[in-house]
Amino acid sequence: MYPDFPACRIVPRDQHAISRANISENALKVLYRLKQEGYQALLVGGGVRDLLLGREPKDFDVATDARPEEVRRIFRNCRLIGRRFRLAHVHFGPEIIEVATFRGGGAGLEDDEEPGDRHLENGMIVRDNLYGTREEDALRRDFTVNALYYNIADFSVIDYAGGLEDLQAGRLRLIGADPELRYREDPVRMLRAVRFAAKLGFNIDPACERPLREQGRLLGGVPPARLFEEVLKLLHSGTGLAAFEKLRHYGLFGQLFPATEECLAHEDHDFPITFVSRGLGNTDQRIQEDKPVAPAFLFALLLWEPVRRRYFTLIDRGLDPFEAMIRAGEDVLAAQLARVSIPKRFSLPMREIWELQPRFEQLDGKRPQRLAAHPRFRAAYDFLLLRAESGEADPALADWWTRFQEASAPEREAMSGTSRKRRRRRRPAAGDGAGGGEAGASAAAGGGGVGDGG
Ligand code: ATP
Ligand code: MG
Repeated sequence: MYPDFPACRIVPRDQHAISRANISENALKVLYRLKQEGYQALLVGGGVRDLLLGREPKDFDVATDARPEEVRRIFRNCRLIGRRFRLAHVHFGPEIIEVATFRGGGAGLEDDEEPGDRHLENGMIVRDNLYGTREEDALRRDFTVNALYYNIADFSVIDYAGGLEDLQAGRLRLIGADPELRYREDPVRMLRAVRFAAKLGFNIDPACERPLREQGRLLGGVPPARLFEEVLKLLHSGTGLAAFEKLRHYGLFGQLFPATEECLAHEDHDFPITFVSRGLGNTDQRIQEDKPVAPAFLFALLLWEPVRRRYFTLIDRGLDPFEAMIRAGEDVLAAQLARVSIPKRFSLPMREIWELQPRFEQLDGKRPQRLAAHPRFRAAYDFLLLRAESGEADPALADWWTRFQEASAPEREAMSGTSRKRRRRRRPAAGDGAGGGEAGASAAAGGGGVGDGG
């Protein structure tokens, strides 16, 4: 059935670099416990791959011949999740060890071969709960380097698909003879190819690279909620900028963010691409420094250019800036949700970041003080800085806000002209909406906050 797979290779414990000292204690607990109960128990996936590469694994995935219900019986701290792909989560405080039962079905079945609880629709796997042997489990995985097992029974590494060789060569290769078929089974594998290429610095094997451009549109058949998870993994993993560039290179970004891609592809200015790239670069840096990152900010960043354009269209139709920004945000979000869902708990703060942007242009009276007290101020200010750095907003305006935050209370009053005398004197100048503050004139002259990039 798989004539192109090299024979299974078993590397004994003294001939590979995986040490139990580098495996999470909780993962070891799960492995030992399953073994003690008479089941097979192996580490698989990213954990094994990353340990062999000398990297710190993000999480540890366990594969076993125990059924999900049996796993739940063994571990009290266990929950079964997933319909499409049922698996057990064993909870240890904040750490979750994912335990998956060996799957069968292999790679590359046709629609009419629907054995047991594996179900395909138009070649896409919509349910994958047909259990199988360890060998079958290896062959239904995505990339060869993700199909390496570390066996707790004898501490050996098992390679069914040539993953060790590919790991050494820095190559991402789909298991099976027909990459197109594997992408059709699950189009998310295209995004995974990009993610691992960015994260590991690996090359995508030419045969697996070629279909990416043509098959990208299959992502349209993937549930938007699943794509949300994948977008976070792609762009919030420390190598988001590289992932973004690769996604665009393969034409996949446009499948996820069509409105943004439309703006980037037909840009008449450099700043939209500079803005997104800088933002993603900053995010990568924050992750490398172990600082928190927010999905709301990420999506605000990715969708800003379509929002900004829509904003100006609505301004031209006579809406006031605040109303225009609210409507622009709603319109862009509504279209985006058809592709990649964004849960409300992220889309609400995302829209606030946008809606606060026009308020940065109001520098007079009590308004700066009120804006600075807004719970979303910090994120919105960071957003403004990024806009200024990429040449879209006026740097003088961003600078005014930087100084405003550092200023003492009396200095702030002076800056925004809140003392009675100043106010009376300055009020007429505030007529254009850009405000009578000391930076007001230059901010207004520079096109204000939501600038036209000129
Ligand atoms: P990460 O470091 O991001 O956790 P990972 O390779 O462990 O990378 P997971 O999403 O945790 O990725 O999946 C664990 C393993 O399950 C993968 O290594 C792969 O063997 C298998 N797998 C995951 N998603 C798919 C898929 N869509 N198709 C086939 N196999 C998959
Ligand atoms: Mg993993």
